[in-house]
Amino acid sequence: MIVSDSLTQSNGAIASNQLDVSVVVPVYNEVESIPHLLEAIASTMKASGLTYDIICVDDGSKDGSADFLKQQATERTDLKAVLLRRNYGQTAAMAAGFKYATGKAIVTLDADLQNDPADIPALLAKLDAGYDLVSGWRKQRQDAALTRLLPSKIANKLIGITTGVKLHDYGCSLKAYRSELVADMNLYGELHRFLPALAFIEGARIGEMPVRHHARRFGRSKYGLWRTFRVLMDLLTISFMKKFLTRPMHVFGLFGLLSLVLGTAIGLYLTFLKLGLGQSIGNRPLLILSVLLFITGVQLFCFGLLAELLMRTYHESQGRPIYRVREVVGHNVK
Ligand code: UDP
Ligand code: MG
Repeated sequence: MIVSDSLTQSNGAIASNQLDVSVVVPVYNEVESIPHLLEAIASTMKASGLTYDIICVDDGSKDGSADFLKQQATERTDLKAVLLRRNYGQTAAMAAGFKYATGKAIVTLDADLQNDPADIPALLAKLDAGYDLVSGWRKQRQDAALTRLLPSKIANKLIGITTGVKLHDYGCSLKAYRSELVADMNLYGELHRFLPALAFIEGARIGEMPVRHHARRFGRSKYGLWRTFRVLMDLLTISFMKKFLTRPMHVFGLFGLLSLVLGTAIGLYLTFLKLGLGQSIGNRPLLILSVLLFITGVQLFCFGLLAELLMRTYHESQGRPIYRVREVVGHNVK
Protein backbone atom coordinates (compact mmCIF):
# COMPACT_ATOMS: atom_id res chain seq x y z
CA MET A 1 0.00 0.00 0.00
CA ILE A 2 1.96 2.95 -1.22
CA VAL A 3 0.02 5.84 0.20
CA SER A 4 -1.28 4.55 3.53
CA ASP A 5 1.90 2.65 4.41
CA SER A 6 4.00 5.74 4.13
CA LEU A 7 1.49 7.58 6.28
CA THR A 8 2.15 5.15 9.13
CA GLN A 9 5.82 5.54 8.41
CA SER A 10 5.82 9.31 8.50
CA ASN A 11 4.03 9.20 11.86
CA GLY A 12 6.24 6.43 13.17
CA ALA A 13 9.87 6.15 14.19
CA ILE A 14 11.41 5.79 10.73
CA ALA A 15 9.99 8.88 9.10
CA SER A 16 10.22 8.87 5.34
CA ASN A 17 11.22 12.10 3.61
CA GLN A 18 9.25 11.30 0.52
CA LEU A 19 5.84 12.90 0.32
CA ASP A 20 2.78 10.71 -0.01
CA VAL A 21 1.19 12.64 -2.85
CA SER A 22 2.17 15.25 -5.44
CA VAL A 23 -0.75 17.00 -7.10
CA VAL A 24 0.24 18.17 -10.59
CA VAL A 25 -1.76 20.98 -12.23
CA PRO A 26 -1.12 22.40 -15.72
CA VAL A 27 -2.07 26.09 -15.81
CA TYR A 28 -2.73 28.23 -18.85
CA ASN A 29 -4.48 31.55 -18.22
CA GLU A 30 -6.43 30.47 -15.13
CA VAL A 31 -5.64 33.34 -12.76
CA GLU A 32 -9.19 33.59 -11.37
CA SER A 33 -9.47 29.89 -10.63
CA ILE A 34 -6.08 29.31 -8.99
CA PRO A 35 -6.79 30.76 -5.51
CA HIS A 36 -9.95 28.62 -5.20
CA LEU A 37 -8.15 25.58 -6.57
CA LEU A 38 -5.20 25.83 -4.16
CA GLU A 39 -7.57 26.16 -1.21
CA ALA A 40 -9.72 23.23 -2.34
CA ILE A 41 -6.69 20.94 -2.84
CA ALA A 42 -5.07 22.01 0.44
CA SER A 43 -8.20 21.47 2.52
CA THR A 44 -8.85 18.01 1.04
CA MET A 45 -5.24 16.92 1.46
CA LYS A 46 -4.96 18.24 5.01
CA ALA A 47 -8.16 16.44 5.96
CA SER A 48 -6.80 13.21 4.47
CA GLY A 49 -3.78 13.33 6.80
CA LEU A 50 -1.39 12.54 3.93
CA THR A 51 1.75 14.56 3.25
CA TYR A 52 1.48 16.33 -0.09
CA ASP A 53 2.65 19.12 -2.33
CA ILE A 54 1.02 20.89 -5.25
CA ILE A 55 2.99 21.41 -8.43
CA CYS A 56 1.48 24.08 -10.61
CA VAL A 57 3.08 24.27 -14.03
CA ASP A 58 2.49 27.58 -15.72
CA ASP A 59 2.32 26.89 -19.43
CA GLY A 60 3.22 30.39 -20.65
CA SER A 61 0.11 32.17 -19.32
CA LYS A 62 -0.46 35.77 -20.33
CA ASP A 63 -2.99 36.70 -17.66
CA GLY A 64 -0.75 37.00 -14.61
CA SER A 65 -1.14 33.33 -13.54
CA ALA A 66 2.65 32.94 -13.46
CA ASP A 67 3.25 35.93 -11.17
CA PHE A 68 0.46 34.87 -8.87
CA LEU A 69 1.82 31.32 -8.66
CA LYS A 70 5.34 32.60 -7.98
CA GLN A 71 4.16 34.79 -5.16
CA GLN A 72 2.05 31.99 -3.68
CA ALA A 73 4.97 29.56 -3.92
CA THR A 74 7.14 31.82 -1.79
CA GLU A 75 4.38 32.22 0.81
CA ARG A 76 3.07 28.68 1.17
CA THR A 77 5.15 25.62 1.84
CA ASP A 78 2.90 23.18 -0.02
CA LEU A 79 3.27 24.76 -3.45
CA LYS A 80 5.92 24.50 -6.13
CA ALA A 81 5.56 26.78 -9.16
CA VAL A 82 7.22 25.55 -12.34
CA LEU A 83 7.19 28.27 -14.98
CA LEU A 84 7.68 27.23 -18.60
CA ARG A 85 9.26 29.63 -21.08
CA ARG A 86 6.23 29.73 -23.37
CA ASN A 87 3.01 27.87 -24.11
CA TYR A 88 3.89 24.25 -24.91
CA GLY A 89 0.47 22.63 -24.45
CA GLN A 90 -1.15 20.60 -21.69
CA THR A 91 0.84 17.40 -22.30
CA ALA A 92 4.19 19.19 -22.03
CA ALA A 93 3.03 21.06 -18.92
CA MET A 94 2.05 17.75 -17.31
CA ALA A 95 5.36 16.18 -18.27
CA ALA A 96 7.17 19.10 -16.57
CA GLY A 97 4.98 18.58 -13.50
CA PHE A 98 5.88 14.87 -13.39
CA LYS A 99 9.56 15.78 -13.48
CA TYR A 100 9.29 17.96 -10.38
CA ALA A 101 6.84 15.69 -8.54
CA THR A 102 8.36 13.84 -5.59
CA GLY A 103 5.28 12.09 -4.17
CA LYS A 104 4.88 8.31 -4.01
CA ALA A 105 1.58 8.84 -5.72
CA ILE A 106 0.87 11.50 -8.32
CA VAL A 107 -2.52 13.05 -8.95
CA THR A 108 -3.26 15.22 -11.97
CA LEU A 109 -6.17 17.58 -12.37
CA ASP A 110 -7.15 20.71 -14.31
CA ALA A 111 -6.71 24.20 -12.94
CA ASP A 112 -10.16 25.41 -13.97
CA LEU A 113 -12.11 23.80 -11.09
CA GLN A 114 -13.94 21.49 -13.50
CA ASN A 115 -12.35 18.54 -11.68
CA ASP A 116 -13.14 18.38 -7.97
CA PRO A 117 -10.17 17.96 -5.60
CA ALA A 118 -12.60 16.36 -3.13
CA ASP A 119 -12.40 13.22 -5.31
CA ILE A 120 -8.65 12.80 -4.71
CA PRO A 121 -8.87 10.59 -1.58
CA ALA A 122 -11.19 8.13 -3.33
CA LEU A 123 -8.80 7.86 -6.29
CA LEU A 124 -5.86 7.29 -3.93
CA ALA A 125 -7.81 4.65 -2.03
CA LYS A 126 -8.43 2.78 -5.28
CA LEU A 127 -4.75 3.11 -6.18
CA ASP A 128 -3.93 1.52 -2.83
CA ALA A 129 -6.37 -1.29 -3.54
CA GLY A 130 -3.94 -2.60 -6.17
CA TYR A 131 -3.91 -0.39 -9.24
CA ASP A 132 -1.01 1.44 -10.86
CA LEU A 133 -3.22 4.05 -12.46
CA VAL A 134 -6.76 5.11 -11.61
CA SER A 135 -8.57 7.27 -14.13
CA GLY A 136 -11.53 9.52 -13.36
CA TRP A 137 -14.76 9.10 -15.30
CA ARG A 138 -16.85 12.24 -15.72
CA LYS A 139 -20.18 10.44 -15.68
CA GLN A 140 -22.08 13.73 -15.70
CA ARG A 141 -19.77 15.81 -17.81
CA GLN A 142 -20.59 19.52 -17.90
CA ASP A 143 -19.36 20.47 -21.36
CA ALA A 144 -21.02 21.28 -24.70
CA ALA A 145 -22.77 18.20 -26.12
CA LEU A 146 -22.06 18.52 -29.82
CA THR A 147 -18.54 19.91 -29.93
CA ARG A 148 -17.12 18.13 -26.87
CA LEU A 149 -19.19 15.18 -25.61
CA LEU A 150 -19.89 13.55 -28.97
CA PRO A 151 -16.31 13.69 -30.33
CA SER A 152 -15.05 12.38 -26.97
CA LYS A 153 -17.46 9.48 -27.03
CA ILE A 154 -16.24 8.48 -30.47
CA ALA A 155 -12.59 9.01 -29.48
CA ASN A 156 -12.99 6.91 -26.31
CA LYS A 157 -14.49 4.04 -28.29
CA LEU A 158 -11.74 4.20 -30.92
CA ILE A 159 -8.97 4.38 -28.34
CA GLY A 160 -10.56 1.45 -26.49
CA ILE A 161 -10.70 -0.69 -29.62
CA THR A 162 -7.19 0.13 -30.86
CA THR A 163 -5.35 -0.02 -27.55
CA GLY A 164 -7.34 -2.73 -25.79
CA VAL A 165 -7.81 -0.55 -22.68
CA LYS A 166 -11.52 0.25 -22.56
CA LEU A 167 -12.11 3.37 -20.47
CA HIS A 168 -15.23 5.54 -20.59
CA ASP A 169 -13.30 8.77 -20.33
CA TYR A 170 -9.71 8.99 -21.51
CA GLY A 171 -9.93 12.77 -21.59
CA CYS A 172 -10.55 13.18 -17.86
CA SER A 173 -7.50 14.93 -16.39
CA LEU A 174 -8.29 13.78 -12.86
CA LYS A 175 -6.15 10.66 -12.52
CA ALA A 176 -3.95 9.07 -9.88
CA TYR A 177 -0.70 7.24 -10.68
CA ARG A 178 2.05 5.41 -8.91
CA SER A 179 5.03 7.68 -9.40
CA GLU A 180 7.21 4.93 -10.96
CA LEU A 181 4.69 4.74 -13.74
CA VAL A 182 5.13 8.30 -14.99
CA ALA A 183 8.83 8.63 -14.18
CA ASP A 184 10.03 7.32 -17.51
CA MET A 185 7.12 8.04 -19.80
CA ASN A 186 8.11 10.00 -22.88
CA LEU A 187 5.17 12.25 -23.61
CA TYR A 188 4.60 14.44 -26.65
CA GLY A 189 1.71 15.81 -28.73
CA GLU A 190 -1.60 15.05 -27.03
CA LEU A 191 -0.27 11.90 -25.44
CA HIS A 192 -1.14 12.67 -21.81
CA ARG A 193 -4.63 11.36 -22.40
CA PHE A 194 -3.22 8.08 -23.66
CA LEU A 195 -1.24 7.48 -20.48
CA PRO A 196 -3.53 4.62 -19.41
CA ALA A 197 -3.00 2.90 -22.77
CA LEU A 198 0.76 3.53 -22.77
CA ALA A 199 1.01 2.30 -19.18
CA PHE A 200 -1.06 -0.79 -20.02
CA ILE A 201 1.39 -1.69 -22.78
CA GLU A 202 4.06 -1.58 -20.07
CA GLY A 203 2.04 -4.00 -17.94
CA ALA A 204 0.30 -1.58 -15.56
CA ARG A 205 -3.01 -2.35 -13.84
CA ILE A 206 -5.54 0.29 -14.88
CA GLY A 207 -8.67 1.24 -12.90
CA GLU A 208 -11.48 3.70 -13.50
CA MET A 209 -13.97 5.34 -11.15
CA PRO A 210 -16.73 7.95 -11.48
CA VAL A 211 -15.76 11.48 -10.40
CA ARG A 212 -17.58 14.79 -10.16
CA HIS A 213 -17.38 17.37 -12.92
CA HIS A 214 -18.36 21.01 -12.85
CA ALA A 215 -18.98 23.60 -15.53
CA ARG A 216 -16.19 26.14 -15.96
CA ARG A 217 -16.63 29.02 -13.51
CA PHE A 218 -14.01 31.38 -14.92
CA GLY A 219 -12.43 31.90 -18.33
CA ARG A 220 -13.05 29.56 -21.25
CA SER A 221 -11.82 26.25 -22.59
CA LYS A 222 -8.59 26.34 -24.56
CA TYR A 223 -9.76 23.66 -26.91
CA GLY A 224 -12.29 23.02 -29.67
CA LEU A 225 -12.83 20.48 -32.43
CA TRP A 226 -9.25 20.93 -33.65
CA ARG A 227 -8.00 19.01 -30.64
CA THR A 228 -10.20 16.02 -31.45
CA PHE A 229 -8.44 15.81 -34.81
CA ARG A 230 -5.03 16.02 -33.17
CA VAL A 231 -6.01 13.35 -30.65
CA LEU A 232 -7.11 11.03 -33.45
CA MET A 233 -3.84 11.55 -35.30
CA ASP A 234 -1.93 10.72 -32.12
CA LEU A 235 -4.09 7.61 -31.75
CA LEU A 236 -3.00 6.47 -35.19
CA THR A 237 0.63 6.95 -34.20
CA ILE A 238 0.11 5.06 -30.95
CA SER A 239 -1.60 2.05 -32.47
CA PHE A 240 1.08 2.03 -35.11
CA MET A 241 3.74 2.19 -32.40
CA LYS A 242 2.16 -0.63 -30.44
CA LYS A 243 2.18 -3.05 -33.31
CA PHE A 244 4.97 -1.94 -35.57
CA LEU A 245 7.30 0.24 -33.58
CA THR A 246 10.00 -2.37 -33.31
CA ARG A 247 10.00 -3.64 -36.88
CA PRO A 248 8.17 -1.43 -39.40
CA MET A 249 10.07 -3.22 -42.15
CA HIS A 250 8.12 -6.38 -41.31
CA VAL A 251 4.88 -4.69 -42.25
CA PHE A 252 5.93 -2.69 -45.28
CA GLY A 253 8.40 -5.34 -46.33
CA LEU A 254 5.69 -8.03 -46.43
CA PHE A 255 3.36 -6.00 -48.65
CA GLY A 256 6.29 -4.84 -50.74
CA LEU A 257 7.47 -8.41 -51.24
CA LEU A 258 3.99 -9.71 -52.14
CA SER A 259 3.54 -6.91 -54.63
CA LEU A 260 6.99 -7.49 -56.09
CA VAL A 261 6.54 -11.28 -56.41
CA LEU A 262 3.11 -10.91 -58.03
CA GLY A 263 4.35 -8.21 -60.43
CA THR A 264 7.37 -10.30 -61.41
CA ALA A 265 5.25 -13.46 -61.87
CA ILE A 266 2.83 -11.68 -64.18
CA GLY A 267 5.77 -10.10 -66.01
CA LEU A 268 7.40 -13.52 -66.53
CA TYR A 269 4.10 -14.96 -67.75
CA LEU A 270 3.77 -12.13 -70.29
CA THR A 271 7.39 -12.56 -71.37
CA PHE A 272 6.70 -16.25 -71.94
CA LEU A 273 3.63 -15.39 -74.06
CA LYS A 274 5.66 -12.95 -76.14
CA LEU A 275 8.92 -14.84 -76.54
CA GLY A 276 7.71 -18.44 -76.17
CA LEU A 277 4.43 -18.32 -78.04
CA GLY A 278 5.06 -15.26 -80.17
CA GLN A 279 1.82 -13.51 -79.05
CA SER A 280 1.47 -9.76 -78.98
CA ILE A 281 1.17 -8.39 -75.42
CA GLY A 282 0.96 -4.70 -76.33
CA ASN A 283 -2.53 -3.77 -75.07
CA ARG A 284 -3.05 -6.13 -72.14
CA PRO A 285 -4.31 -4.68 -68.84
CA LEU A 286 -2.18 -7.39 -67.22
CA LEU A 287 0.92 -5.64 -68.50
CA ILE A 288 -0.03 -2.42 -66.74
CA LEU A 289 -0.88 -4.35 -63.56
CA SER A 290 2.44 -6.12 -63.66
CA VAL A 291 4.39 -2.86 -64.00
CA LEU A 292 2.28 -1.19 -61.29
CA LEU A 293 2.75 -4.07 -58.85
CA PHE A 294 6.47 -4.11 -59.50
CA ILE A 295 6.91 -0.38 -58.92
CA THR A 296 4.65 -0.44 -55.84
CA GLY A 297 6.62 -3.34 -54.48
CA VAL A 298 9.94 -1.57 -54.84
CA GLN A 299 8.49 1.59 -53.29
CA LEU A 300 6.96 -0.20 -50.31
CA PHE A 301 10.25 -1.88 -49.69
CA CYS A 302 12.11 1.43 -49.70
CA PHE A 303 9.38 2.91 -47.51
CA GLY A 304 9.86 0.11 -45.01
CA LEU A 305 13.58 0.71 -44.93
CA LEU A 306 13.05 4.42 -44.37
CA ALA A 307 10.56 3.70 -41.58
CA GLU A 308 13.10 1.41 -39.97
CA LEU A 309 15.74 4.15 -40.06
CA LEU A 310 13.23 6.68 -38.76
CA MET A 311 12.35 4.47 -35.82
CA ARG A 312 15.98 4.20 -34.86
CA THR A 313 16.38 7.97 -34.99
CA TYR A 314 13.16 8.26 -32.99
CA HIS A 315 14.49 6.04 -30.24
CA GLU A 316 17.80 7.84 -30.14
CA SER A 317 16.19 11.26 -29.95
CA GLN A 318 14.11 10.41 -26.90
CA GLY A 319 16.28 12.47 -24.58
CA ARG A 320 15.08 15.75 -26.11
CA PRO A 321 12.82 17.74 -23.76
CA ILE A 322 9.45 18.85 -25.09
CA TYR A 323 9.43 21.99 -22.93
CA ARG A 324 11.88 24.47 -21.43
CA VAL A 325 11.67 25.65 -17.84
CA ARG A 326 12.24 29.33 -17.09
CA GLU A 327 12.09 29.19 -13.32
CA VAL A 328 11.07 26.98 -10.43
CA VAL A 329 9.89 28.61 -7.23
CA GLY A 330 9.11 26.87 -3.96
CA HIS A 331 10.49 25.19 -0.89
CA ASN A 332 12.63 22.08 -1.31
CA VAL A 333 12.87 22.39 -5.06
CA LYS A 334 14.58 19.27 -6.38
N1 UDP B 1 -3.79 23.93 -20.37
C1 UDP B 1 -2.40 24.07 -20.46
N2 UDP B 1 -1.85 24.42 -21.67
C2 UDP B 1 -2.60 24.64 -22.78
C3 UDP B 1 -4.01 24.45 -22.70
C4 UDP B 1 -4.56 24.10 -21.48
O1 UDP B 1 -1.69 23.90 -19.47
O2 UDP B 1 -2.03 24.97 -23.82
C5 UDP B 1 -4.38 23.55 -19.08
C6 UDP B 1 -5.55 24.43 -18.63
O3 UDP B 1 -5.13 25.55 -17.89
C7 UDP B 1 -6.35 23.48 -17.77
C8 UDP B 1 -6.13 22.14 -18.48
O4 UDP B 1 -4.94 22.28 -19.24
O5 UDP B 1 -5.82 23.39 -16.46
C9 UDP B 1 -7.30 21.75 -19.36
O6 UDP B 1 -7.63 22.81 -20.24
P1 UDP B 1 -9.14 23.23 -20.54
O7 UDP B 1 -9.91 23.36 -19.27
O8 UDP B 1 -9.11 24.41 -21.43
O9 UDP B 1 -9.65 21.96 -21.35
P2 UDP B 1 -11.11 21.27 -21.26
O10 UDP B 1 -11.45 21.09 -19.80
O11 UDP B 1 -12.04 22.21 -21.94
O12 UDP B 1 -10.90 19.97 -21.97
MG1 MG C 1 -11.55 22.44 -18.40
